[in-house]
Amino acid sequence: MEKIRRTKVVDLLKREDFGAMVNVKGWVRTRRGSKQVSFIALNDGSTIHNVQVVVDLAQFDEEMLKLITTGACLSVDGVMVESVGSGQRVEVQAREIEVLGTCDSSYPLQKKGHSLEFLREVAHLRPRTNTFGAVFRIRHNMAIAIHKFFHEKGFFYFHTPIITASDCEGAGQMFQVTTMNLYNLKRDERGSISYDDDFFGKQASLTVSGQLEGELAATALGSIYTFGPTFRAENSNTPRHLAEFWMIEPEVAFNDIIDNMDLAEEFIKYCVKWALDNCMDDVKFLNDMFDKELIERLQGVLEKDFVRLPYTEGIKILEEAVAKGHKFEFPVYWGVDLASEHERYLVENHFKRPVILTDYPKEIKAFYMKLNEDGKTVRAMDVLFPKIGEIIGGSERESDYDKLMTRIEELHIPMKDMWWYLDTRKFGTCPHAGFGLGFERLLLFVTGMANIRDVIPFPRTPRNADF
Ligand code: ATP
Ligand code: MN
Repeated sequence: MEKIRRTKVVDLLKREDFGAMVNVKGWVRTRRGSKQVSFIALNDGSTIHNVQVVVDLAQFDEEMLKLITTGACLSVDGVMVESVGSGQRVEVQAREIEVLGTCDSSYPLQKKGHSLEFLREVAHLRPRTNTFGAVFRIRHNMAIAIHKFFHEKGFFYFHTPIITASDCEGAGQMFQVTTMNLYNLKRDERGSISYDDDFFGKQASLTVSGQLEGELAATALGSIYTFGPTFRAENSNTPRHLAEFWMIEPEVAFNDIIDNMDLAEEFIKYCVKWALDNCMDDVKFLNDMFDKELIERLQGVLEKDFVRLPYTEGIKILEEAVAKGHKFEFPVYWGVDLASEHERYLVENHFKRPVILTDYPKEIKAFYMKLNEDGKTVRAMDVLFPKIGEIIGGSERESDYDKLMTRIEELHIPMKDMWWYLDTRKFGTCPHAGFGLGFERLLLFVTGMANIRDVIPFPRTPRNADF
């Protein structure tokens, strides 16, 4: 028989030329039926929906039929017909079945309803479940939406390095990159490790942010964004932190903190709208399965303006809540670095919409943030979201060389490897601002998943780098 071109299930389910011969390929989700006929739910990952394949058992080889078990991979030629009972408009009456890959009986995804914890242990197979198929199709769509958003606004996608010899925040939470023999480390006269013979001739690490290089680009190309992997060796086992995550960091010359907030709000709304417009099958599945308020929450974010509130006002609200008897695990006072419970109180209990908190105490923010006239606070902005807490962290940058140096000295930041960053403030410095959006935090919001390990294909967390 002549080879029929494969139709993806997503396309097949839209076709109306009933009676046509088609070919579908995919993996068996379920097989049920009687002695005469089998109904096979076939999924090829192109959509959350399966196509039903109807098999008249009398017409096929018995040995071959035995191989059609959950998880097996099939190629089916058949007639596309209008369906009454399958829940779809279209089904395929099999004429020819080839088992491309049999499935061993040890297949872990035999039945439905595995826990998310169990599925993390089989992360190599979990994309084959409805849940993770939906999550990873949405993940793809969000990446596309992000590039589209910035491209349409005239931003340039700028690639910043993954290996770096500078620690952006001055914090000691980086993964070291080395080719040195750890069993035989060379030491200098004072007993410290000597990096002279290391690959880069100096200590190097995986980047915690592309911002500093992003600033170089913004002061040349005007409006740029980065979108790449980021690494933090923080030993915080929370449902919102990964050791390897993806970050989007726009940086814009001539933007002030207000422009920065406007950009962040427009950007997130664009992404959320994209999900509702383009991923509704998957979003609806996750809504029904895990989080009955998901769609409502997504629509809610589009409708409302984000609250914009100085940190000092936020602290007052939290202190009032404590005075009225609300219990937080961590203390609230001016100067504290807010915990996610505080952020969520402001968003979920008090304002009932996203909040952009600004003007944080300089002590809890990075050296490069622009100092306010009060000398105490900086032009920082964190975007706080329901269910998540911080989704974006950003600021207007300090563009004045002397003020920046003062901060660097106050914080004892080793600047010998940062001369290139300081050059931007010497050679035609300009006001500029930017922020970082954690891609997986956005995905937590859009998918309604509760744990960040469930929105990245292969999560890296303390004591876990399998797959
Ligand atoms: P948090 O306070 O939640 O630990 P942060 O203040 O350290 O975050 P930033 O340095 O401002 O985060 O990074 C920008 C964004 O990157 C954050 O708003 C968040 O969305 C995301 N992010 C930061 N750390 C992680 C992580 N370990 N895993 C996943 N996303 C992260
Ligand atoms: Mn932050």
